[in-house]
Amino acid sequence: MTTPRNGMRAASTIERFTAWAMCPRCKSVDCHSIRPPKPALDPDDVAEWEADHVTMHGWNGFIRHIPPKPLDESVFEVIRICKCGKEWGQA
Ligand SMILES: [Zn+2]
Repeated sequence: MTTPRNGMRAASTIERFTAWAMCPRCKSVDCHSIRPPKPALDPDDVAEWEADHVTMHGWNGFIRHIPPKPLDESVFEVIRICKCGKEWGQA
């Protein structure tokens, strides 16, 4: 989807907005719903997430799955929503 053009910055790793897009999970090509991105993350929310999840890692040699960090959606213009439930950002 993203092709670097004319020396554009590497920030083009963010998928560009297109009316029709492929879902990164189920590969469905559709005119997926959109919603506005959430505002920038509150540093307190990130600290709370880290307190809840990071300490679980490596306890007693037992490694548990750590859910992904909260995503900062403020870098996106829109958030696409697939019928499968997958959401991803485009700019
Ligand atoms: Zn999907």
